[in-house]
Amino acid sequence: MGRTGVRNGTRELRAAPVVTDALTLFDVGPDDDVVPAETPVENRLLQVRTVYAEPAAAASPRGRQVLARFPAAEVVEVASHWQLPELHGNAGNVDRWVRVKSETLVLGVKKSLSTRPNGRSADFIAPSTSNGCAMACAYCYVPRRKGYANPITVFTNIEQITAHLRRHVARQGPKTEPNQCDRDSWVYDLGENSDCSVDAVVSDNVADLVATFRDLPTAKASFATKFVNRQLLDLDPQGRTRVRFSLMPDADAHLLDVRTSRIAERIAAIDDFVAAGYEVHLNFSPVVLREGWEADWTALLRQLDDELSPAAKAQAATEVIMLTHNEGLHEVNLGWHPQAEQLLWRPEVQQPKVSQNGQLNVRYRNDVKRAGVQRLQALIAQHTPWLPVRYAF
Ligand code: SF4
Repeated sequence: MGRTGVRNGTRELRAAPVVTDALTLFDVGPDDDVVPAETPVENRLLQVRTVYAEPAAAASPRGRQVLARFPAAEVVEVASHWQLPELHGNAGNVDRWVRVKSETLVLGVKKSLSTRPNGRSADFIAPSTSNGCAMACAYCYVPRRKGYANPITVFTNIEQITAHLRRHVARQGPKTEPNQCDRDSWVYDLGENSDCSVDAVVSDNVADLVATFRDLPTAKASFATKFVNRQLLDLDPQGRTRVRFSLMPDADAHLLDVRTSRIAERIAAIDDFVAAGYEVHLNFSPVVLREGWEADWTALLRQLDDELSPAAKAQAATEVIMLTHNEGLHEVNLGWHPQAEQLLWRPEVQQPKVSQNGQLNVRYRNDVKRAGVQRLQALIAQHTPWLPVRYAF
């Protein structure tokens, strides 16, 4: 990995770019596209001090937008966004886990673009426009794939990604058979490896995706989120983007959903997102079985019934996903958040499971899981009869 540290606090990217510091390093000249004015990000989640950047990513318009949003960050040139041993695959970073997420970004170019079939929450998984997350949910599978301290990597070749998606949607033609994903649109999940609401703070990739799907009448974008970013209310999705607010009882979220928006804030945002033109679904995930879970889920469902508007209820649906955990993540979590493991790691009711991507995980035993799913579905039918369950597993 080639590395050069450059302090770029004096950069000026607002009009014609002045070639200084990091821009010189990344060979950005006055003929390159002008980056529009950017307001520096002020967000509790992102106090960015270092941006690791592939040269081509930093020199691209999207890369320069990100750098302009974090003007005080040091930029460090790297050969590949995947080869950052001090960030990735380093469980020893556990004592700095949250700090690395707050203080670090990575810029890269996504080399291979592919859309994969899914068939559960979405028909397809779109190529990521980022991966990693500034939040730190204790059960999150994203760090298992990438290594443990997994700050946000932004992929800057957004035009290639949106062009790929347009071609993929065109090849499908109209959706003629309704399925659990949607009645009449092909659904593309955007946020498999990140949280799009936070990604939208870092760059306009999510805005570009929302704009892309606005013009695709046979398709719909979809992402689950645990963060309320009200900037998304200005994107005019015209019903072509589905936001799935992830919910669980606040007592669980308080312990497990580290750095996220509180449950009450997520619920309070639902009506506003519906009014702004989003389809808003719910994502009951992960469902954690523990003493008292039924009473707490009942309270959550009653809160939804009390607080959501008729318009929100009329278009709502949910998915139910029982907790899956992982032994490696369990070991790491013991080093930074052992209380979470009292909820997540319960070998007496769990069994091994090989995931779709070959990871050895644990999930609730078949009988325990079946009973939990049935009980939660019964509670939903009783307390929120307006809320169809798209799928549960
Ligand atoms: S918000 Fe999503 S991607 Fe981020 S840490 Fe939580 S589960 Fe992982």
